[in-house]
Amino acid sequence: MIVATALLVFACSGSFLWLNMTEHEAIYKRTVFGHLDALSRNMSDDLVPLIADQDMLAITTKLLDFERYKNIQYSIVYDREWNVMQTYVAPSFMTSLTGKTGKTGKVELPPFNIKTIDAGLSIRKGSLVSYSTIGDQAFLQGYLLIVNQYRTPLNKSHYALFVSSSPVAFFILCCMMFLAVFFNRSMLSPLFRLTKFTESINSSTNYHLRFDCKGNDEISSLGEKINAMLSRIEAQDEKNAEYTAALEDNKNTLEQMANYDALTELPNRKLFMELLRGEISRAKRRSTNVIVLFLNLDDFKGINDTLGHAAGDALLIKVASLIKVQLREGDVLARIGGDEFLVLLNDIPDDILDVGIKIIERIVRAFDLPVMVHDWEVQTGASIGFSDGINSNFDPDTIVRNADIAMHHAKTSGRSNTFTVFQQQQLDDSLRKSRIANAFTKSLLDNEFFIAYQSKVGVNAEVVGLEALIRWDSHFCGFISPMEFIPVAERSGKITHLSRWVINKVFEDLSKIFEIVGKEVVVSINISAYDIKEPKFVEYIQHELTLHDVDPKSIEFEITESAYLDNFEEAANFFQTLRRLGFSIALDDFGTGYSSMSYLTRIEIDTLKIDQQFIKRLDESAKDQLIVEAIISLARGLELDVCAEGVETLEQSNYLVHHGCQQLQGYYYARPCALDKLKDQVNGILDISKFS
Ligand code: C2E
Ligand code: CA
Ligand code: CA
Repeated sequence: MIVATALLVFACSGSFLWLNMTEHEAIYKRTVFGHLDALSRNMSDDLVPLIADQDMLAITTKLLDFERYKNIQYSIVYDREWNVMQTYVAPSFMTSLTGKTGKTGKVELPPFNIKTIDAGLSIRKGSLVSYSTIGDQAFLQGYLLIVNQYRTPLNKSHYALFVSSSPVAFFILCCMMFLAVFFNRSMLSPLFRLTKFTESINSSTNYHLRFDCKGNDEISSLGEKINAMLSRIEAQDEKNAEYTAALEDNKNTLEQMANYDALTELPNRKLFMELLRGEISRAKRRSTNVIVLFLNLDDFKGINDTLGHAAGDALLIKVASLIKVQLREGDVLARIGGDEFLVLLNDIPDDILDVGIKIIERIVRAFDLPVMVHDWEVQTGASIGFSDGINSNFDPDTIVRNADIAMHHAKTSGRSNTFTVFQQQQLDDSLRKSRIANAFTKSLLDNEFFIAYQSKVGVNAEVVGLEALIRWDSHFCGFISPMEFIPVAERSGKITHLSRWVINKVFEDLSKIFEIVGKEVVVSINISAYDIKEPKFVEYIQHELTLHDVDPKSIEFEITESAYLDNFEEAANFFQTLRRLGFSIALDDFGTGYSSMSYLTRIEIDTLKIDQQFIKRLDESAKDQLIVEAIISLARGLELDVCAEGVETLEQSNYLVHHGCQQLQGYYYARPCALDKLKDQVNGILDISKFS
């Protein structure tokens, strides 16, 4: 910018100087022309009488007047015929002509063809030439030529002017330069400040900065606009920061939701599996092992039902911290839903059992003490399954599945607060169970199920009833005991299909049974706790009743004591409904369900079936005798019938009859058999009664 300004100043100064010179030249020219013109006229006028008199001396004298004019080089006076009359050469000019002699031997003046020159003034060969007539046109005496130096004095004058004006011009130039720089500076410095300011914003991204606007110039107004823009950017920036923070919050919440259990804030299954995968890779690299424990609380459902869901939740939180403190740093505890927890023990050396079992024992011991939940002392426990990486091919899903299977074994062992180490046999059992669970529907369609009937006899060994027991001759592994497949059907939600099938079949068989037995007897059908919960179950029974035209008095439903204890209110309503329809109810496996005697007064039943475990030990166990006697007298007191099942000997039979048991059922009298063999069974019982 400064360079451009300097160039501009120089150009201006140059132009100014050039104009000055030009003007000076014009003035000079005008002045010299004026002077010479006047001089020429005066001289011509003065020469008129002298030429007329042909007074050469006077002419010469007159011409010598030119000596006063130092720039006049020479002058020539011609007569009318253009003959040179007299010549004047300035002494200084003469010096410059020295040596330039012509043919005549005289000094030769620079030639001018005077005749070609118009009258007046003209510039020729760097000299100012004046040519005028002497005397009026009517009395023309001659001509006067005056040659005046022009270019040389002009140059000298130019030079003198230049020299004299140079310091001033230089001073003015400097002043102008200074002023130019000064104005440039004062005008551009706000612009520089603004540029610097924008650069600092750009590099720092600090939008809190503001440009210091001074004055009312354009830069200040531009600065104000930039400040306004910065305010908007800053506001937007703050908004963006808020949005980003909100997004970050959302992301964290989503991450928390996706990876952690909301109740206990423990990792969930997804995160647990990710961590397990990481630990497996580490274990493989370091040739170590990992252990997974699968924990399921014992009777959590009971606690939830009795104390409420809030207490259940509080218990889960307590249990989570209870387990957590038993673990080592770096071990992972996750809640994978309901009352199920997973534990990952990593960095396990070869003696896996020792390490794992020590930790399990610590957990089990922690559950020994009751947990305080909402001012209640809750005694809980856990069934724990144990599996490890090496024995599960270091496959994360397999490790967890194996621990799950082991946990189920612990659960079905009947003991509470216990653990099981995974073994291949458990997996085989589990696979068999899932095979069974998947086969029900097709096996029902393929008629693989049938009913076996077992007689119940009265005190005189006559058939008073029959129990319908389901049988399954499966295509994939032959005969399967109901002891095995009924629990699987219950857990897989298929039990109601089986129960409905049995009801239909028994109702269908009923008339044939009466025919075989020779009279109308009561046929017992076993139903499950899950049937009670099935809303349309009673509707189905009623429908079948009508369809097969069955008298409900001929049908008894047997339900285990534990089934009604699980769901007392629902079971009580169910029994009541069935009894109102005319059916009778027997409480199966009585004595095994730790039932509270008070329940018996609140449910409508007809018969107590003493569980066969008491009958089996009747011969040798005084305690069992006492229990059997107690059950019989309790039934009597409640005006209920008593049936003893599992009667295998005459002694057992006699004992029971002696103590007032009305019905007996067991191998001593008959083994369950299909309908087509029932005749033999009934005949067999007749034979027994004849000989007893
Ligand atoms: P449960 O209802 O207690 O049936 C009696 C079980 O004892 C039957 O076994 C029967 O064959 C067996 N039993 C009868 N007398 C004797 C005896 O003197 N000695 C011995 N050791 N056992 C005897 P089963 O048929 O294997 O049935 C086992 C269990 O399966 C039944 O026990 C019952 O809980 C369930 N079950 C059988 N059929 C059905 C059914 O149709 N529906 C439902 N829900 N459960 C059924
Ligand atoms: Ca039964
Ligand atoms: Ca039973």
